[in-house]
Amino acid sequence: MSSFDSVLVVDWSAAAKRAPKRPSKDAIWLGFVRGGVASDPIYCRTRIEAEARIAHIMEEERAAGRRLLATFDFPFGYPTGLARRITGSDDPLDLWDWLAARITDSETGQNNRFDVAEAINSHFDEPGPLWGKTHVDRWPGIPYRKAGIVYDEVAEKRTCDLISAASSSCFQLCYHPTVGSQILMGLPMLSRLRRQGGTRVWPFQQWQDAPIVLAEIWPGLIEPAVKIAISKGGGASIRDAVQVDLLARALARMPGTELHSIMSNLPDAAREEAWILGAGHRARLCDLATSTPASAPPLAGKVPSTTTPLTLPPAPPPLRDDCFAMPAGVEWTPVDDALAALRAGLHPVVRAERCKVADACGRVLAGAAIALRASPPLANSAIDGYGFAYDSLPPGDAVLPLAPGRSAAGAPYEGTVPHGHALRILTGAAVPDGVDTIVLEEDTRQSAGQIAFRAGIKRGANTRKAGEDVNAGANALPKGRVLTPADLALLASVGLGEVSVYRRLRVAVISTGDELIEAGGEAAKGQIFDANRPMLLAQIAAWGLEAIDMGRIADDRATLRAALNEAASRADVILTSGGASAGDEDHVSALLSEAGAMQQWRIALKPGRPLALGLWNSAPVFGLPGNPVAALVCTLIFARPALGLLAGAGWTEPQGFNVPAGFEKSKKPGRREYLRARIRNGRAEVFASEGSGRVSSLSWAEGLVELPDGAAQIAIGDPVRYIPFGSFAL
Ligand code: AMP
Ligand code: MG
Repeated sequence: MSSFDSVLVVDWSAAAKRAPKRPSKDAIWLGFVRGGVASDPIYCRTRIEAEARIAHIMEEERAAGRRLLATFDFPFGYPTGLARRITGSDDPLDLWDWLAARITDSETGQNNRFDVAEAINSHFDEPGPLWGKTHVDRWPGIPYRKAGIVYDEVAEKRTCDLISAASSSCFQLCYHPTVGSQILMGLPMLSRLRRQGGTRVWPFQQWQDAPIVLAEIWPGLIEPAVKIAISKGGGASIRDAVQVDLLARALARMPGTELHSIMSNLPDAAREEAWILGAGHRARLCDLATSTPASAPPLAGKVPSTTTPLTLPPAPPPLRDDCFAMPAGVEWTPVDDALAALRAGLHPVVRAERCKVADACGRVLAGAAIALRASPPLANSAIDGYGFAYDSLPPGDAVLPLAPGRSAAGAPYEGTVPHGHALRILTGAAVPDGVDTIVLEEDTRQSAGQIAFRAGIKRGANTRKAGEDVNAGANALPKGRVLTPADLALLASVGLGEVSVYRRLRVAVISTGDELIEAGGEAAKGQIFDANRPMLLAQIAAWGLEAIDMGRIADDRATLRAALNEAASRADVILTSGGASAGDEDHVSALLSEAGAMQQWRIALKPGRPLALGLWNSAPVFGLPGNPVAALVCTLIFARPALGLLAGAGWTEPQGFNVPAGFEKSKKPGRREYLRARIRNGRAEVFASEGSGRVSSLSWAEGLVELPDGAAQIAIGDPVRYIPFGSFAL
């Protein structure tokens, strides 16, 4: 007998902190299928919570007489030989108990896994085999990097890891892709769970008739199916949740005899190292993960299988109702106070997702990008020339015999260059053993198997050191970085093919006003063309955000309410223009106050006021002034940094610099002013008219001159702060 009535798939985590309240990735996820019917994936914030839930499911299934296959996504064993080193026994289950006696965990996720890892390493000659840690200078018994560790007593990878081309090793405790910490934090749990009545561990124990079988799985086997499901979900799904869901379905759909045969035919190595259920059957599992229930009937066949839609995990915590609160009792809020209030009230509202590096330009990193490999990975040549050992040079000019062969990029010289010889070496080629210095081809004369060059070359000349650009394990780019084309080169050079980025922030744009019609249309008397919408949509797209065009809305409260409802359901943020003051036809501010989460910000700013800020169905709304000049200035000064914060890119200030004024002006105190400006002949010139309806002035300008809140008398040649439009990038 080998059929199972239920399948549990656990995506484990070694996180040292409690996962957020809102379901998110990198936490623990449980996928569960009973009688062919999948439940929504279960999210657990801590290992302690997860263990309790798993124990409960095991108990429930056993009590109901249902046979359970409970699977976990971390290795059940280490490469052959490790267990004996630590416990004196070849039985991997003894190692489970050894770990269970030592590992401590807590509700907050704090644990002692590095102390225990150090204890394991103490059984071996230094360094290793476990490596990678969160603090360079703690746990001296754990190497920070892999370089220098020799895996001779135990192999670096298990047989099944090699067969399934898993890139992780049991011994890597940190940095993506890592599984080493999951093992240390997971095996103690299994050591407890396996004591629950009727439980057996595959493939270490007689599992064939056990009511509950614990087995190792690896979601990487169904990666193509996961990708398809995520793309169908519009990228809105949490990868871990999709993985456990699909894998549980795939295992549940596999006919019993097939599953039995896969679980029974294992190489010898599996006895100690364990085995990934399905290793070597990737294509079949992917098929089952994507197949419809009709073509692959549910395993137990008791309940017809339904393909319930994958639950889309909710977004990060909503903004607080008072996130736009301004200091009370202030008549006109200074720009800096308004910015500080925005900065304090907002936080990222988008989830992380994986993205290919090639597609990641303009995206925001959701976590630091850690170098998988040093760049350059090996010492190499900066030039085309000849390499030799510096210490072998005679005093004065040198004549060196040439060793046969050469070292080229991608085709390294395998041997050691004999002392006193030189070797032909090309740009980018690995510096071979026996070489530490390279002379430029053009600085030598070659004849009859010899080269000659003048005295004076420095030791190490023309070589690049391994890791001189970025070391393996280093933080190549920080969380929140908006990726540039150059960043893609950096990420690729340190071995990253994918990065975790925030989902693009979705920004809806609504124009309001009875007078507005679409450009190109037939305008009646009194009508004007909607100029703000194309401007704002283009600005949002230029910032790498997803712009959602919600069209023009008449000055009618019911219509606007419906438009805001729809915008809030489709977008993370809403920008409206027009109707933001306190007049009869200012419906944006009226509706936002009605919703109770509105702040009418009277900002001491020209051009600008008023700005209505509020939440509509939890979506922040920026009620911009209708006037195109004021709308753009408010967007650049207020919406831009706020959108950056919401998008995960953090708060940024536009960089300006002082230039001599090419204009004269006398400014009253009490409010900040932004003038439409550009630089010509080294001076800032400003648009001839300050009229805020002058759309052409925005087009004419290449930046803004910022005049401080206090009074200012500006004469030609006085320094003024100029902020180029380019500085307003997100
Ligand atoms: P409001 O803020 O609605 O009082 O509008 C202020 C001024 O901006 C009025 O002259 C409006 O006609 C003008 N306006 C409002 N929305 C737009 C728009 N989308 N395009 C061009 N002008 C606009
Ligand atoms: Mg209006």
